[in-house]
Amino acid sequence: MTTRVCDRLFYNERSVIWVWPTVYVLLGALLGACSEAERRPDPPAKPIIQTQTSDTDMSQPVNKTDQQWRESLTPMQYHVLREKGTERAFTGEYHDHKGHGVYRCAGCGLELFKSDEKFDSGTGWPSYWSPADDDRVVTKTDTTHGMTRTEVLCRRCGGHLGHIFNDGPAPTGLRYCINSASLDFKPGGTGDTE
Ligand SMILES: [Zn+2]
Repeated sequence: MTTRVCDRLFYNERSVIWVWPTVYVLLGALLGACSEAERRPDPPAKPIIQTQTSDTDMSQPVNKTDQQWRESLTPMQYHVLREKGTERAFTGEYHDHKGHGVYRCAGCGLELFKSDEKFDSGTGWPSYWSPADDDRVVTKTDTTHGMTRTEVLCRRCGGHLGHIFNDGPAPTGLRYCINSASLDFKPGGTGDTE
């Protein structure tokens, strides 16, 4: 009887000696794996500045890095849209353009002006008495070049388009003086502006 108790004790002690360390080793491996997963390096960093979210959803703003703008625009488009440049009068593609359609932003495709609201201002730049819709453009006071003017920009991508003056025709009396380089004409219907 004593022997059997001792055997059982011995067996139990052996269990303690061999089983528990095994459990500890397994637990350690498991925990190690977990912490290894936590330490796993992040996937390659994505650009912080969001690229164009959608080419078709015009309600979404467009944010691009300077490099992305340089790659997606011609040098003249980049100069006007991103550096607030002005093309020389009578040199742009649309100053004397009379096609029927819509003029979209060359930077993001947002429909900005309609041919129905274009008029010949004689200035050498495409001129409109209204944007296609009030929410297509935003304005900003511009005090560069010793003048105080009202700058007009694309609401979607923030691209510089030109300036607004108060010498336009009825019904608004406004003249949206726009650089051809900031526009991309689309003949035909007026798309989402109708
Ligand atoms: Zn735009």
